[in-house]
Amino acid sequence: MPSLTLPPELLPTDGRFGCGPSKIRTEQLAHLSANADILGTSHRQAPVKQLVARVRTALADLFNVPAGFEVILGNGGSTAFWDAAAFSLIERRSAHLSFGEFGAKFASAASAPWLEAPFIVTAAAGTRAEFEADALSTAGIDLVAWPHNETSTGVMTPVVRAAGTPAGALTVVDATSAAGGIQFDASKTDVYYFAPQKNLGSDGGLWFALFSPAAIERVEAYGKHLLYRWSSGDTLHVHLGLYGKFRRLHTPAPEPRGALRLRLEGEPYTADLRGPIACELLDPAREQLLLDRLGPDPLRRDGDPELFAANLRRRRIPIGAALMDQSVIAGIGNVYRAEILLLLGIDPRRPARELREEEMRAVWDTTKRLLTAGVKANRIVTRPRRPGRKGRVPRDEAVWVYRRQDCAQCGGPVERYELAARTMYACATCQPAARINGV
Ligand SMILES: [Zn+2]
Repeated sequence: MPSLTLPPELLPTDGRFGCGPSKIRTEQLAHLSANADILGTSHRQAPVKQLVARVRTALADLFNVPAGFEVILGNGGSTAFWDAAAFSLIERRSAHLSFGEFGAKFASAASAPWLEAPFIVTAAAGTRAEFEADALSTAGIDLVAWPHNETSTGVMTPVVRAAGTPAGALTVVDATSAAGGIQFDASKTDVYYFAPQKNLGSDGGLWFALFSPAAIERVEAYGKHLLYRWSSGDTLHVHLGLYGKFRRLHTPAPEPRGALRLRLEGEPYTADLRGPIACELLDPAREQLLLDRLGPDPLRRDGDPELFAANLRRRRIPIGAALMDQSVIAGIGNVYRAEILLLLGIDPRRPARELREEEMRAVWDTTKRLLTAGVKANRIVTRPRRPGRKGRVPRDEAVWVYRRQDCAQCGGPVERYELAARTMYACATCQPAARINGV
Protein backbone atom coordinates (compact mmCIF):
# COMPACT_ATOMS: atom_id res chain seq x y z
CA MET A 1 0.00 0.00 0.00
CA PRO A 2 1.51 3.33 -1.00
CA SER A 3 1.94 5.80 1.82
CA LEU A 4 0.42 9.19 1.34
CA THR A 5 1.62 12.35 2.98
CA LEU A 6 -0.50 15.45 2.60
CA PRO A 7 1.50 18.61 2.13
CA PRO A 8 1.03 20.87 5.16
CA GLU A 9 -0.58 23.64 3.08
CA LEU A 10 -3.48 21.28 2.26
CA LEU A 11 -4.17 20.32 5.87
CA PRO A 12 -7.10 22.09 7.55
CA THR A 13 -5.96 24.85 9.87
CA ASP A 14 -8.33 23.55 12.53
CA GLY A 15 -7.45 19.89 12.89
CA ARG A 16 -10.74 19.09 14.65
CA PHE A 17 -12.74 19.32 11.45
CA GLY A 18 -13.04 15.81 10.12
CA CYS A 19 -16.43 15.92 8.41
CA GLY A 20 -16.65 18.60 5.77
CA PRO A 21 -19.17 18.73 2.93
CA SER A 22 -19.61 15.64 0.74
CA LYS A 23 -18.35 15.46 -2.78
CA ILE A 24 -21.13 16.05 -5.31
CA ARG A 25 -21.30 12.98 -7.58
CA THR A 26 -20.94 13.45 -11.34
CA GLU A 27 -24.32 11.69 -11.76
CA GLN A 28 -25.96 14.45 -9.70
CA LEU A 29 -24.39 17.12 -11.86
CA ALA A 30 -25.44 15.28 -15.01
CA HIS A 31 -29.03 15.07 -13.70
CA LEU A 32 -28.99 18.77 -12.92
CA SER A 33 -27.74 19.53 -16.38
CA ALA A 34 -30.36 17.27 -18.01
CA ASN A 35 -33.11 19.10 -16.08
CA ALA A 36 -31.64 22.57 -16.30
CA ASP A 37 -34.87 24.04 -17.70
CA ILE A 38 -36.18 24.33 -14.13
CA LEU A 39 -33.46 26.89 -13.32
CA GLY A 40 -34.74 30.41 -13.57
CA THR A 41 -38.37 29.29 -13.07
CA SER A 42 -40.39 31.32 -10.58
CA HIS A 43 -40.91 29.60 -7.26
CA ARG A 44 -44.63 30.17 -7.80
CA GLN A 45 -44.69 27.95 -10.88
CA ALA A 46 -45.74 24.31 -10.85
CA PRO A 47 -42.35 22.72 -11.75
CA VAL A 48 -40.65 24.30 -8.72
CA LYS A 49 -43.62 23.67 -6.42
CA GLN A 50 -43.72 20.03 -7.52
CA LEU A 51 -39.99 19.58 -6.94
CA VAL A 52 -40.27 21.10 -3.45
CA ALA A 53 -43.29 18.87 -2.72
CA ARG A 54 -41.33 15.77 -3.84
CA VAL A 55 -38.39 16.67 -1.61
CA ARG A 56 -40.67 17.31 1.38
CA THR A 57 -42.54 14.03 0.91
CA ALA A 58 -39.33 12.03 0.41
CA LEU A 59 -37.72 13.49 3.53
CA ALA A 60 -40.86 12.86 5.60
CA ASP A 61 -40.70 9.28 4.35
CA LEU A 62 -36.96 8.87 4.97
CA PHE A 63 -37.22 10.15 8.54
CA ASN A 64 -40.52 8.37 9.20
CA VAL A 65 -42.02 11.54 10.69
CA PRO A 66 -45.08 11.19 12.94
CA ALA A 67 -48.52 12.38 11.79
CA GLY A 68 -48.87 16.15 11.99
CA PHE A 69 -45.16 16.86 11.43
CA GLU A 70 -44.18 18.98 8.45
CA VAL A 71 -40.96 19.24 6.48
CA ILE A 72 -40.03 22.91 6.14
CA LEU A 73 -37.17 24.27 4.05
CA GLY A 74 -35.51 27.52 3.19
CA ASN A 75 -32.46 29.11 1.63
CA GLY A 76 -29.48 30.21 3.65
CA GLY A 77 -28.20 27.10 5.41
CA SER A 78 -28.17 26.52 9.16
CA THR A 79 -27.10 30.10 9.83
CA ALA A 80 -30.36 31.43 8.39
CA PHE A 81 -32.27 28.80 10.36
CA TRP A 82 -30.67 29.97 13.63
CA ASP A 83 -31.73 33.56 12.98
CA ALA A 84 -35.29 32.45 12.15
CA ALA A 85 -35.35 30.31 15.31
CA ALA A 86 -34.16 33.22 17.45
CA PHE A 87 -36.95 35.29 15.93
CA SER A 88 -39.92 32.98 16.07
CA LEU A 89 -39.20 29.69 17.87
CA ILE A 90 -37.72 30.96 21.12
CA GLU A 91 -40.31 32.85 23.11
CA ARG A 92 -38.21 34.13 26.00
CA ARG A 93 -35.21 32.00 26.78
CA SER A 94 -33.47 28.99 25.30
CA ALA A 95 -31.10 26.40 26.75
CA HIS A 96 -28.17 25.00 24.77
CA LEU A 97 -25.59 22.26 25.00
CA SER A 98 -22.44 23.63 23.47
CA PHE A 99 -19.43 21.40 22.82
CA GLY A 100 -18.20 22.48 19.41
CA GLU A 101 -18.78 24.93 16.59
CA PHE A 102 -22.41 24.15 15.76
CA GLY A 103 -23.85 24.15 19.27
CA ALA A 104 -21.95 27.34 20.04
CA LYS A 105 -23.25 29.13 16.93
CA PHE A 106 -26.93 28.50 17.73
CA ALA A 107 -26.33 29.63 21.32
CA SER A 108 -24.76 32.80 19.97
CA ALA A 109 -27.70 33.49 17.58
CA ALA A 110 -30.06 32.96 20.54
CA SER A 111 -28.32 35.80 22.41
CA ALA A 112 -30.58 38.22 20.50
CA PRO A 113 -31.48 41.53 22.18
CA TRP A 114 -35.21 40.71 22.34
CA LEU A 115 -34.55 37.45 24.22
CA GLU A 116 -33.26 36.75 27.68
CA ALA A 117 -29.65 35.57 27.79
CA PRO A 118 -29.62 31.88 26.87
CA PHE A 119 -28.80 29.19 29.40
CA ILE A 120 -25.69 27.44 28.05
CA VAL A 121 -23.92 24.34 29.30
CA THR A 122 -20.51 24.02 27.68
CA ALA A 123 -17.99 21.21 27.52
CA ALA A 124 -14.57 20.99 25.90
CA ALA A 125 -14.49 20.01 22.21
CA GLY A 126 -14.36 16.24 21.95
CA THR A 127 -16.49 15.70 25.06
CA ARG A 128 -20.24 16.02 25.59
CA ALA A 129 -22.14 18.54 27.69
CA GLU A 130 -25.29 17.53 29.58
CA PHE A 131 -28.06 19.37 31.40
CA GLU A 132 -28.26 18.76 35.11
CA ALA A 133 -31.59 17.32 36.14
CA ASP A 134 -33.30 20.38 37.65
CA ALA A 135 -31.44 23.07 35.73
CA LEU A 136 -34.01 23.28 32.92
CA SER A 137 -37.13 23.33 35.06
CA THR A 138 -36.06 26.35 37.09
CA ALA A 139 -34.51 28.62 34.47
CA GLY A 140 -37.61 29.85 32.57
CA ILE A 141 -36.72 27.85 29.47
CA ASP A 142 -39.10 27.44 26.50
CA LEU A 143 -36.70 25.82 24.02
CA VAL A 144 -33.92 23.26 24.53
CA ALA A 145 -31.28 22.71 21.82
CA TRP A 146 -28.21 20.64 21.08
CA PRO A 147 -26.44 19.09 18.09
CA HIS A 148 -27.27 15.46 17.31
CA ASN A 149 -23.73 15.07 16.08
CA GLU A 150 -21.22 17.86 16.63
CA THR A 151 -19.87 18.50 13.17
CA SER A 152 -16.52 19.72 14.39
CA THR A 153 -15.69 16.73 16.61
CA GLY A 154 -18.09 13.89 15.79
CA VAL A 155 -19.40 13.72 19.38
CA MET A 156 -22.99 12.41 19.37
CA THR A 157 -25.87 13.26 21.71
CA PRO A 158 -28.99 11.06 21.64
CA VAL A 159 -32.30 12.51 20.44
CA VAL A 160 -34.47 12.30 23.56
CA ARG A 161 -36.47 14.72 25.68
CA ALA A 162 -33.87 15.98 28.17
CA ALA A 163 -34.72 15.26 31.81
CA GLY A 164 -36.40 18.27 33.39
CA THR A 165 -37.56 19.84 30.09
CA PRO A 166 -40.46 22.13 31.13
CA ALA A 167 -43.94 21.30 29.79
CA GLY A 168 -44.48 23.12 26.52
CA ALA A 169 -40.76 23.70 25.87
CA LEU A 170 -39.59 22.70 22.39
CA THR A 171 -36.73 20.25 21.80
CA VAL A 172 -34.66 21.46 18.84
CA VAL A 173 -31.87 19.28 17.44
CA ASP A 174 -29.16 20.37 15.01
CA ALA A 175 -28.59 17.46 12.66
CA THR A 176 -26.41 18.83 9.90
CA SER A 177 -23.78 16.14 10.15
CA ALA A 178 -26.15 13.45 11.51
CA ALA A 179 -29.24 13.64 9.27
CA GLY A 180 -29.43 10.56 7.11
CA GLY A 181 -26.56 8.84 8.94
CA ILE A 182 -27.84 8.22 12.48
CA GLN A 183 -31.12 6.52 13.40
CA PHE A 184 -33.40 8.57 15.64
CA ASP A 185 -37.04 8.84 16.63
CA ALA A 186 -38.52 12.10 15.27
CA SER A 187 -41.31 12.02 17.86
CA LYS A 188 -38.65 12.82 20.49
CA THR A 189 -38.03 16.25 18.90
CA ASP A 190 -40.02 19.30 17.91
CA VAL A 191 -37.56 20.56 15.34
CA TYR A 192 -34.87 18.43 13.68
CA TYR A 193 -32.99 20.70 11.31
CA PHE A 194 -30.04 20.34 8.98
CA ALA A 195 -28.27 21.56 5.91
CA PRO A 196 -27.95 18.70 3.40
CA GLN A 197 -24.25 18.85 2.51
CA LYS A 198 -23.06 15.93 4.66
CA ASN A 199 -24.73 12.48 4.59
CA LEU A 200 -27.29 13.62 2.04
CA GLY A 201 -24.50 14.50 -0.37
CA SER A 202 -26.11 17.69 -1.63
CA ASP A 203 -24.65 21.14 -2.02
CA GLY A 204 -24.90 23.56 0.91
CA GLY A 205 -27.03 26.69 1.05
CA LEU A 206 -30.38 25.11 1.96
CA TRP A 207 -31.81 24.17 5.31
CA PHE A 208 -34.47 21.56 6.05
CA ALA A 209 -36.37 20.98 9.27
CA LEU A 210 -38.89 18.47 10.57
CA PHE A 211 -41.41 20.49 12.60
CA SER A 212 -43.75 18.97 15.19
CA PRO A 213 -47.29 20.36 15.55
CA ALA A 214 -46.16 22.15 18.75
CA ALA A 215 -43.36 23.90 16.86
CA ILE A 216 -45.69 24.88 14.00
CA GLU A 217 -48.19 26.22 16.51
CA ARG A 218 -45.52 28.42 18.07
CA VAL A 219 -44.51 29.87 14.72
CA GLU A 220 -48.14 30.50 13.77
CA ALA A 221 -49.23 32.09 17.04
CA TYR A 222 -50.46 35.53 16.21
CA GLY A 223 -51.62 38.42 18.25
CA LYS A 224 -54.56 40.69 17.90
CA HIS A 225 -55.24 44.34 18.21
CA LEU A 226 -55.24 45.36 21.84
CA LEU A 227 -56.69 48.70 22.84
CA TYR A 228 -56.06 50.34 26.21
CA ARG A 229 -58.07 53.43 26.94
CA TRP A 230 -56.53 56.08 29.18
CA SER A 231 -58.45 58.62 31.21
CA SER A 232 -56.80 61.33 29.10
CA GLY A 233 -58.97 60.18 26.17
CA ASP A 234 -56.09 58.67 24.28
CA THR A 235 -55.98 55.02 23.38
CA LEU A 236 -52.89 52.84 23.28
CA HIS A 237 -53.06 50.48 20.31
CA VAL A 238 -50.87 47.37 20.35
CA HIS A 239 -50.79 44.63 17.74
CA LEU A 240 -48.57 41.80 18.92
CA GLY A 241 -48.09 40.23 15.48
CA LEU A 242 -46.05 37.05 15.36
CA TYR A 243 -43.28 38.10 17.72
CA GLY A 244 -44.68 40.63 20.12
CA LYS A 245 -44.81 39.62 23.76
CA PHE A 246 -45.74 41.21 27.04
CA ARG A 247 -43.63 40.17 29.95
CA ARG A 248 -44.62 40.66 33.57
CA LEU A 249 -41.95 41.70 36.07
CA HIS A 250 -42.13 42.54 39.74
CA THR A 251 -41.99 46.26 40.48
CA PRO A 252 -39.43 47.78 40.78
CA ALA A 253 -38.27 46.23 37.52
CA PRO A 254 -34.60 46.27 36.54
CA GLU A 255 -33.34 48.78 33.99
CA PRO A 256 -34.60 47.69 30.55
CA ARG A 257 -32.07 46.10 28.21
CA GLY A 258 -32.26 45.85 24.43
CA ALA A 259 -35.18 46.88 22.25
CA LEU A 260 -38.05 47.62 24.61
CA ARG A 261 -41.10 49.20 22.95
CA LEU A 262 -43.20 49.95 26.01
CA ARG A 263 -43.00 49.73 29.77
CA LEU A 264 -46.09 50.04 31.96
CA GLU A 265 -45.19 50.49 35.62
CA GLY A 266 -47.67 49.59 38.30
CA GLU A 267 -47.97 47.85 41.64
CA PRO A 268 -47.06 45.08 42.14
CA TYR A 269 -46.17 44.44 38.50
CA THR A 270 -44.42 46.12 35.60
CA ALA A 271 -45.23 45.02 32.03
CA ASP A 272 -42.61 45.16 29.29
CA LEU A 273 -43.58 44.94 25.63
CA ARG A 274 -41.11 43.79 23.00
CA GLY A 275 -41.39 43.04 19.29
CA PRO A 276 -44.97 44.15 18.43
CA ILE A 277 -46.05 45.08 14.90
CA ALA A 278 -47.75 48.18 16.22
CA CYS A 279 -47.48 50.17 19.44
CA GLU A 280 -48.96 53.66 19.12
CA LEU A 281 -50.98 56.27 20.95
CA LEU A 282 -54.22 57.11 19.12
CA ASP A 283 -56.55 60.05 19.58
CA PRO A 284 -60.30 59.29 19.36
CA ALA A 285 -60.49 60.07 15.62
CA ARG A 286 -57.63 57.76 14.72
CA GLU A 287 -59.01 55.07 17.00
CA GLN A 288 -62.29 55.21 15.09
CA LEU A 289 -60.39 54.81 11.81
CA LEU A 290 -58.77 51.66 13.20
CA LEU A 291 -62.07 50.27 14.45
CA ASP A 292 -63.73 50.96 11.11
CA ARG A 293 -61.09 48.84 9.43
CA LEU A 294 -61.63 45.92 11.85
CA GLY A 295 -64.58 43.62 11.44
CA PRO A 296 -66.91 42.83 14.36
CA ASP A 297 -65.38 40.80 17.18
CA PRO A 298 -67.59 37.88 18.30
CA LEU A 299 -66.00 37.96 21.77
CA ARG A 300 -67.15 41.52 22.44
CA ARG A 301 -70.54 42.40 23.79
CA ASP A 302 -70.98 44.92 20.97
CA GLY A 303 -69.92 42.36 18.32
CA ASP A 304 -72.66 42.61 15.69
CA PRO A 305 -73.65 39.49 13.68
CA GLU A 306 -75.63 41.68 11.26
CA LEU A 307 -72.51 43.68 10.43
CA PHE A 308 -70.65 40.39 9.86
CA ALA A 309 -73.37 39.19 7.47
CA ALA A 310 -73.29 42.54 5.65
CA ASN A 311 -69.50 42.18 5.27
CA LEU A 312 -69.92 38.68 3.79
CA ARG A 313 -72.58 39.86 1.34
CA ARG A 314 -70.07 42.36 -0.06
CA ARG A 315 -67.44 39.71 -0.80
CA ARG A 316 -67.24 37.28 -3.66
CA ILE A 317 -64.01 35.70 -2.26
CA PRO A 318 -64.35 32.16 -0.83
CA ILE A 319 -65.79 31.97 2.69
CA GLY A 320 -62.53 30.27 3.81
CA ALA A 321 -60.63 33.41 2.76
CA ALA A 322 -63.23 35.86 4.11
CA LEU A 323 -62.97 34.40 7.61
CA MET A 324 -59.24 35.22 7.68
CA ASP A 325 -59.87 38.83 6.66
CA GLN A 326 -59.80 40.90 9.85
CA SER A 327 -62.01 43.53 8.22
CA VAL A 328 -64.78 40.92 7.80
CA ILE A 329 -64.58 39.41 11.27
CA ALA A 330 -61.90 39.83 13.95
CA GLY A 331 -60.12 37.02 15.70
CA ILE A 332 -60.31 33.97 13.43
CA GLY A 333 -57.01 32.24 12.59
CA ASN A 334 -56.17 29.27 10.42
CA VAL A 335 -57.21 26.64 12.97
CA TYR A 336 -60.58 28.17 13.73
CA ARG A 337 -61.61 28.74 10.11
CA ALA A 338 -61.03 25.02 9.37
CA GLU A 339 -62.91 23.87 12.47
CA ILE A 340 -65.86 26.27 12.09
CA LEU A 341 -66.51 25.37 8.45
CA LEU A 342 -66.19 21.64 9.17
CA LEU A 343 -68.69 21.84 12.02
CA LEU A 344 -71.17 23.64 9.77
CA GLY A 345 -70.56 21.43 6.72
CA ILE A 346 -69.63 24.43 4.57
CA ASP A 347 -67.18 23.99 1.69
CA PRO A 348 -64.48 26.67 2.24
CA ARG A 349 -64.43 27.49 -1.48
CA ARG A 350 -68.02 28.70 -1.63
CA PRO A 351 -68.21 32.43 -2.39
CA ALA A 352 -68.81 34.28 0.88
CA ARG A 353 -71.76 36.27 -0.43
CA GLU A 354 -73.59 33.12 -1.54
CA LEU A 355 -73.95 31.70 1.97
CA ARG A 356 -77.55 31.55 3.12
CA GLU A 357 -78.62 33.96 5.89
CA GLU A 358 -78.91 31.13 8.44
CA GLU A 359 -75.43 29.88 7.48
CA MET A 360 -73.94 33.33 8.05
CA ARG A 361 -75.59 33.45 11.45
CA ALA A 362 -74.38 29.91 12.26
CA VAL A 363 -70.79 30.88 11.38
CA TRP A 364 -71.03 33.82 13.80
CA ASP A 365 -72.57 31.76 16.61
CA THR A 366 -70.10 28.89 16.19
CA THR A 367 -67.16 31.32 16.11
CA LYS A 368 -68.40 32.94 19.32
CA ARG A 369 -68.80 29.57 21.04
CA LEU A 370 -65.37 28.22 19.98
CA LEU A 371 -63.46 31.44 20.73
CA THR A 372 -65.09 31.66 24.16
CA ALA A 373 -64.08 28.06 24.92
CA GLY A 374 -60.56 28.79 23.64
CA VAL A 375 -60.15 31.80 25.92
CA LYS A 376 -61.31 29.70 28.88
CA ALA A 377 -58.97 26.80 28.08
CA ASN A 378 -56.15 29.16 26.99
CA ARG A 379 -55.66 26.95 23.92
CA ILE A 380 -57.59 25.85 20.87
CA VAL A 381 -59.95 22.99 21.75
CA THR A 382 -62.95 22.55 19.47
CA ARG A 383 -64.00 19.02 20.37
CA PRO A 384 -65.71 17.94 23.57
CA ARG A 385 -63.54 16.00 25.98
CA ARG A 386 -63.88 12.22 25.70
CA PRO A 387 -65.74 10.71 28.67
CA GLY A 388 -63.38 9.63 31.43
CA ARG A 389 -60.40 11.47 29.92
CA LYS A 390 -58.52 13.60 32.47
CA GLY A 391 -55.70 16.10 32.14
CA ARG A 392 -54.50 17.88 29.02
CA VAL A 393 -56.29 16.80 25.85
CA PRO A 394 -53.75 15.59 23.25
CA ARG A 395 -53.66 17.77 20.18
CA ASP A 396 -55.15 15.20 17.80
CA GLU A 397 -58.16 14.86 20.12
CA ALA A 398 -58.58 18.64 20.42
CA VAL A 399 -59.62 19.39 16.82
CA TRP A 400 -61.90 17.87 14.15
CA VAL A 401 -60.02 18.50 10.94
CA TYR A 402 -57.10 20.93 11.32
CA ARG A 403 -53.79 19.28 10.32
CA ARG A 404 -55.43 15.87 10.62
CA GLN A 405 -55.15 13.07 8.05
CA ASP A 406 -58.70 11.89 8.73
CA CYS A 407 -61.81 13.82 9.70
CA ALA A 408 -62.64 13.23 13.36
CA GLN A 409 -66.34 13.58 12.53
CA CYS A 410 -66.72 10.96 9.77
CA GLY A 411 -63.29 9.29 9.45
CA GLY A 412 -62.98 10.34 5.80
CA PRO A 413 -59.78 11.80 4.31
CA VAL A 414 -58.94 15.45 4.97
CA GLU A 415 -58.21 17.55 1.89
CA ARG A 416 -55.54 20.23 1.98
CA TYR A 417 -55.27 23.20 -0.36
CA GLU A 418 -54.08 26.80 -0.34
CA LEU A 419 -56.67 29.39 0.48
CA ALA A 420 -55.74 32.99 1.33
CA ALA A 421 -52.03 32.01 1.34
CA ARG A 422 -52.56 29.46 4.12
CA THR A 423 -53.28 25.74 4.10
CA MET A 424 -56.97 24.98 4.31
CA TYR A 425 -58.09 21.67 5.84
CA ALA A 426 -61.51 20.36 4.86
CA CYS A 427 -63.46 17.11 4.72
CA ALA A 428 -64.91 16.22 1.31
CA THR A 429 -67.67 14.19 2.97
CA CYS A 430 -68.75 16.61 5.69
CA GLN A 431 -68.23 19.71 3.51
CA PRO A 432 -69.48 18.56 0.10
CA ALA A 433 -68.22 20.55 -2.86
CA ALA A 434 -71.60 20.11 -4.60
CA ARG A 435 -72.91 22.89 -2.41
CA ILE A 436 -70.56 25.31 -4.14
CA ASN A 437 -73.26 25.65 -6.79
CA GLY A 438 -75.99 25.85 -4.22
CA VAL A 439 -77.09 22.23 -4.74
ZN1 LIG B 1 -65.88 14.37 7.68
